[in-house]
Amino acid sequence: MLLEVRNLSVSYGNVSAVSDVSVHVEEGSIAAVLGANGAGKTSLLNAIMGVTRAQGVVRFAGQVISGWSSARRVSAGIALVPEGRRILLSLTIEENLLMGAYQRRDREITGDLTKMYDLFPNLARRRNYLGSVLSGGEQQMLAIGRALMARPRLLLMDEPSLGLSPLFVREVFNLVRSLNSAGLAILLVEQNTRMALQAARRGYVLKLGRLALESDTEELMKSDDLTKAYLGDD
Ligand code: ATP
Repeated sequence: MLLEVRNLSVSYGNVSAVSDVSVHVEEGSIAAVLGANGAGKTSLLNAIMGVTRAQGVVRFAGQVISGWSSARRVSAGIALVPEGRRILLSLTIEENLLMGAYQRRDREITGDLTKMYDLFPNLARRRNYLGSVLSGGEQQMLAIGRALMARPRLLLMDEPSLGLSPLFVREVFNLVRSLNSAGLAILLVEQNTRMALQAARRGYVLKLGRLALESDTEELMKSDDLTKAYLGDD
């Protein structure tokens, strides 16, 4: 197992955002986390990345990383594509990509940059332009490219298709599939339930911070419980 999250809880003061949630991601597989707004999906991802404080145990590639800084987690092989992309609009596209590699000391960063430009020709053409010239969909690609520049083994993606045109939504999901085919494990938070379940092997549904359902996605797609849990009508 690449990622094992056990009994994870996140609270903000008196507000409990995630309660006692356990999820796992197998090496090289895609798992989807679904749930309505406020269900705790972002808090879960941020806790795995170490940018939000949490209780519980997070194990990655055989090591307990719960006490680690987010920088150390990045070095270990976890990268986050955050909600809302968080592109730095006053930096160039290339500088944004290089931000993803800020902890690397190896000599292959330039080579990886070339790979990103092969993967995202729209970014290559405008590498020296500011991030602000990009459309929402292109910014999402940049956010994904930036995370890939850390050379992760596990990619945490927070609503990558949110607010994008149908064309870019398809592109995001195609990319998710092809990155996964190349061996990358992905934990995908999505409001696009159908497409997320089609891409993932395992699905988790959060409701008010708790795990409401968990199953292989084939089962989840057949299940009436999914609609109930997801839409919140018991
Ligand atoms: P969304 O899809 O709207 O981002 P989500 O499923 O990702 O929702 P979270 O963003 O993790 O859910 O939020 C879970 C709960 O925690 C919500 O009730 C939210 O209001 C609360 N919350 C999130 N961040 C904070 C914060 N920084 N301070 C206080 N409460 C917060």
